[in-house]
Amino acid sequence: MSICEYSLRRDSTRQLSPSFKVREFGCKGSDVVLLDEELVVLLQCIREHFGKPLHITSGYRTAAHNAAVGGSKSSQHLLGRAADFWVEDTPVASVAAYAETLLPARGGIGRYPKDAKHSTRKTGWVHIDTRANKSRWSM
Ligand SMILES: [Zn+2]
Repeated sequence: MSICEYSLRRDSTRQLSPSFKVREFGCKGSDVVLLDEELVVLLQCIREHFGKPLHITSGYRTAAHNAAVGGSKSSQHLLGRAADFWVEDTPVASVAAYAETLLPARGGIGRYPKDAKHSTRKTGWVHIDTRANKSRWSM
């Protein structure tokens, strides 16, 4: 699989998989969208496993947007290899546990629950990425 480059102007409504379109991975202020095909496959698996709407809150990020949202300088979002998302009516822990079965030995999985420590979050969310090594965190 590989990283594809799309144009929001040209490809916005292009269907990448049964549930996802190019525009869902776009970045404010950028026509270009970089996107790893494998990331779409992973999200589609998660979507089908839970059978509930899956909302992507951040996909590809330009360096400027990544800095504006406080992302790490080595963020996988800059490469089109990461997505932050939440699944309706499904706890972050359940989504992350299923993602773990899809990426048992590699990739990034970050848990961002809405809990007592993070009560101001509108929703919790999960970050997944397709990096070669294995990385896990909870924030
Ligand atoms: Zn992320």
